[in-house]
Amino acid sequence: MKYISTRGGTAKVTLSEAMIRGLAGDGGLFVPDNIPSINPESFSPLETFPEIAAAALAPFFAGDPLEKQLPGICRSAFDFDLPVRFLRNDTGLLELFHGPTCAFKDFGAQFLAECFMRIDPGATRTVLVATSGDTGGAVAAAFHGRPGIEVGILYPDGGVSARQQRQLTGWGGNVRAFAVAGSFDDCQRIVKEAFADRTWGEGRGLTSANSINIGRLLPQIAYYGAASLWYRRRTGASPAFIIPAGNLGNGVGAFYARQLGFPIDKIALACNANPTIADFFNGGNYRPRPSIPTLANAMDVGAPSNFERLQHLIPDIEQLRGAALSISVGDEQIRETILRVDREWGEIICPHTATAFYFRDQLNSPHWIIAATAHPAKFEILIEPLIGRKIPVPAQLAEILSREGKAEKIGNRLEDFKRAWKG
Ligand SMILES: *Cc1c(COP(=O)(O)O)cnc(C)c1O
Repeated sequence: MKYISTRGGTAKVTLSEAMIRGLAGDGGLFVPDNIPSINPESFSPLETFPEIAAAALAPFFAGDPLEKQLPGICRSAFDFDLPVRFLRNDTGLLELFHGPTCAFKDFGAQFLAECFMRIDPGATRTVLVATSGDTGGAVAAAFHGRPGIEVGILYPDGGVSARQQRQLTGWGGNVRAFAVAGSFDDCQRIVKEAFADRTWGEGRGLTSANSINIGRLLPQIAYYGAASLWYRRRTGASPAFIIPAGNLGNGVGAFYARQLGFPIDKIALACNANPTIADFFNGGNYRPRPSIPTLANAMDVGAPSNFERLQHLIPDIEQLRGAALSISVGDEQIRETILRVDREWGEIICPHTATAFYFRDQLNSPHWIIAATAHPAKFEILIEPLIGRKIPVPAQLAEILSREGKAEKIGNRLEDFKRAWKG
């Protein structure tokens, strides 16, 4: 299997190269040059997620130097729970939040880190990420303590919640956090400029771990595949999925899993008040726009970068429109849904997951699995006053929250970052 750019302007590369480069040279995103087929029956002896993931992703690693190591990569990366909990006979909850930072981004970040450690193990690498919340924490957790790797996390000073800040700043060692006097866009600009600055990047093995990296997408294909198999073994039915969508990386995983041949029925994408995706699937043109802030802030995206991967997967625009359902869910509906799901279902859910639950109630057909993207304890400031009680904090979150965070305050220019990095 080789990897090509969605824009068609670069030569084919191996998966390892695509993961190290992050973005294709022509500005496009790396995608596999063909979609393999799996036979779901051949998965019947497999039960655990690491086993199923290794089998599901094997065709994507075919011919890559890491091919033989894939089962070990999956065992090391996915050493936490991945339950599908049955809330009612016809609705399951895929809990994607049992990793080190309690959000689904742990799957991609852990997987990418395990791959990086095995591609050219002696290499020195510098991983830089700009973050407005979950991505930075997941990347920090995944690369913390890895030999030969230096990590720089840039976040907007004052622009993240107290718990998010601890998840960015509480690591120490090879992970440094920079509180930028500016916005998330400033952080992203500094990282982009650092990549463009060849003299600075040279010798540091500058690499990106952001969410458009193909290495972060692959595990997301695997967990939709695994959840569909588990659901069918239990009910005899092929499930449909409802997925909270922002940059659409998580959602694209489900499209690939269905294309591969896993027993997946419909795909429904729940957006917050940023309606770019919902407008498209409801018949409008694809029209990227500036994002607006919402309660489901990890989905505050007006120009979802992974849409390009969807278009590449299903080039015919009408066929693509028919391939998913979508709605846009406002903040008031998010609040009501958190409250109602607590009262009626006895579940405390995060504001992102709430968009998917809201969508569930609009859909009459049975057999849906809702993707729960983060643990509610990360959003206690919103949820606790709504439901009127404390949310139990998972052990791994309590541990990082107990550490003293440390961030280096910097200005919003590349020069400021470079000076601070040298120390
Ligand atoms: C990142 C994130 C999302 C959005 O996922 P995309 O892949 O960007 O669509 C949803 N919920 C949570 C909790 C997230 O961290």
